Amino acid sequence: MAATLIDGKAAAASLRERLAHVAGFFRASTGRPAALATVLVGEDPASAVYIRSKRSATAEAGMESLHHALPADTSQAELLALIERLNADPAVDGILVQLPLPSQMDAALVISAIDPDKDVDGFHVVNAGRLAVGDPAALVPCTPLGCLHLLKATLGDLSGRHAVVIGRSNIVGKPMAMLLLSESCTVTIAHSRTRDLPEVCRSAGILVAAVGRPEMVRGDWIKPGACVIDVGINRVPANEPGKTRLVGDVAFAEATEVAGAITPVPGGVGPMTIAMLLRNTLVAAHRRAGLQAPE
Ligand code: NDP
Repeated sequence: MAATLIDGKAAAASLRERLAHVAGFFRASTGRPAALATVLVGEDPASAVYIRSKRSATAEAGMESLHHALPADTSQAELLALIERLNADPAVDGILVQLPLPSQMDAALVISAIDPDKDVDGFHVVNAGRLAVGDPAALVPCTPLGCLHLLKATLGDLSGRHAVVIGRSNIVGKPMAMLLLSESCTVTIAHSRTRDLPEVCRSAGILVAAVGRPEMVRGDWIKPGACVIDVGINRVPANEPGKTRLVGDVAFAEATEVAGAITPVPGGVGPMTIAMLLRNTLVAAHRRAGLQAPE
């Protein structure tokens, strides 16, 4: 039987609608819109596309999008000075520095300069630490937060389930594992050195693939009925010469025959990431204004 398709596009659309209401209440209570400052250094075309979508989603939700486009040869000191100004600006609730940064910059140092309470990407070590110790003040990275939202919407209570997360990056795998742990899952984190990965995956009631390897997870790696969240976004050659298409880290056609529920690529996790960026900005805005933050 084919798995239930987890429609991330629909989930993100309904979340964004709800967040637009929250943004309206915020504006009415404080007399100003919640504001997200985005910073793009250089002209990487993929980064420019991501920033455009983030900015238009911010504006669509009734929030203010303040953009800073810096030339590729900007010095690190100049970027740090801009972050200082944004940290100090009372009209700015969230700061997002688009990664990757040009090679003359130390991304970890730049991220660590952002005020943790405005760090809406959730990449600052203070937020990673807050998440690890279960501090509700954590701003949590958007992609894993989106995955958790889809998992809870699909499965309800996650407590006691065995979750396997493939990938241990600081932006997806590790925070995903922490979130699942905080939901009382039994969590296994797999990575490139994991022995017998297919067998490890077969033990999972929840399988999250965040690897960056096209269709690596095969149908026979999946426990029948498992819930599969495919974070991977991989561009591969399409059947037509010169054309490409997007695939996930999971071999979708095979997986859908075995899994209970699965996210497609595209249209699964991807749309949730931007919705969660809006959510984090509103959470940061509410906390800074001393208001009850939205869920
Ligand atoms: P990274 O490259 O930072 O991390 C990949 C992880 O996968 C590493 O922990 C690595 O292990 C592990 N890995 C690599 N090869 C294997 C293997 N053969 N077997 C098991 N594990 C392996 O990637 P990200 O976490 O940043 O992203 C992962 C994927 O998610 C990418 O496809 C990316 O495009 C996508 N993504 C999607 C987003 C969305 O909005 N939907 C947002 C962010 C990312 P090790 O640590 O041992 O090297």
